Amino acid sequence: MSFTAAARVFIVFGDPVEHSLSPVMQNAALQAAGIDGLYIPWRVKPEGLPIAFESLRRMENFGGANVTLPHKEQAASLVDELSSEAASVGAVNTLVPRGGHLLGATTDGRGFLRSLQEEAGFVPRGRQAVILGAGGAARAVAWSLAEAGVSRLFILNRTVERAESLALLVSRGCGVSAIGLCPSDPRVSEKLADSELLVNATSVGLAASDPPAINPALLHPRILVYDLIYRPRETALLREAKKRGCRVLGGLGMLLYQGALAFELWTGQKASEEAMRRALIETLS
Ligand code: NDP
Repeated sequence: MSFTAAARVFIVFGDPVEHSLSPVMQNAALQAAGIDGLYIPWRVKPEGLPIAFESLRRMENFGGANVTLPHKEQAASLVDELSSEAASVGAVNTLVPRGGHLLGATTDGRGFLRSLQEEAGFVPRGRQAVILGAGGAARAVAWSLAEAGVSRLFILNRTVERAESLALLVSRGCGVSAIGLCPSDPRVSEKLADSELLVNATSVGLAASDPPAINPALLHPRILVYDLIYRPRETALLREAKKRGCRVLGGLGMLLYQGALAFELWTGQKASEEAMRRALIETLS
C-alpha cells in the first residue's frame, strides 16, 4: 500500500472494530483504482462518536467513512443530512463528506439483498423470513426484505421493545406484515417452521466461543440460514444449521457488496470487486 502526505483518509468507526475486514478490503480497492488514500480503523465508544464526527467536518483530507457496531443508529442522529434510504431505515453505515457537512447513507440492505440473491439464489418475494436482532444492521436487512416483497417478517430480539419498534417501522413503511417477538416466546418455533429464511443480525457469534444465536433444534432443512457475521467464517449457528441439513451462507458477500457501494459513493468510481474479494480471501486464509 502506498500513499503520500496528500492522501485522503477513509475510516471505519466501531467498538470493537478489530474484527472488521473493511480496512483490508477498502485499501485494496483504493490501490486498484490508483487513488492516493488510506483506510483506517478508529475504535470509539458511543459517547465519543459526536466529537469524532465533529473532527471529520473539519478534516480537509477526509475521504469518507463506514460505521459499524454499535454506532449505526446513533450515527443517523449525528449527520447533517440523510439519504432517503438511511432516513427510512434509521441507520447509517456510510458517511460521505459534503463540503464540511456529513451525508449519512446506508448500503447494508442493498449489499445483503445482492448477496442473498446472487450467492444463494434466494428470491424473497412471497416468502416468510425471521430476523434475529434489531440493531443497525437488522434495520437495514428488515427494510430491504420488506421492500423485496417478503410475505411476513418476524423480528426476534433480546430487548423485545426494539424488535417491536422495528416491526412497526417496516409494517408502516413498506406495508408488510411484521411482528416483533422475544426469542423465548413460545410462538417462535411455529414461526420458524413456516419460514424459508433465517437471518442472524445480532453480534452473537463474533466471538469463537459464542453459542448459536438461536436454539438449533428449531431449525429445519427447508430454511436458508444467513449469518451476517463474516469473521469467524463459520459461526456456531452456521455449523449447527449445516448439521440439520440447512443451506447456509455467511456475511462475506454482503461485506463485499456493501463496501463496493460505499466506495462508489466516496469516489464516484466503480470499485474493483475482484481486488476487494482477493484481499478478503487472502486475509481469511
Ligand atoms: P448493533 O450493536 O447495532 O446491534 C446488535 C444486535 O445484537 C442487537 O439486536 C442486540 O440486542 C443483539 N445482541 C448483542 N449481544 C447479544 C446477546 N448476548 N444476546 C442476544 N442478542 C444480542 O450491531 P449491528 O446491527 O451494527 O451489527 C450486528 C452484526 O451484524 C454484527 O455481528 C456485525 O458484524 C454484523 N454485520 C455484518 C455486515 C456484513 O457486511 N456482513 C454488515 C453489518 C453488520 P439488544 O437490542 O437486546 O441489545
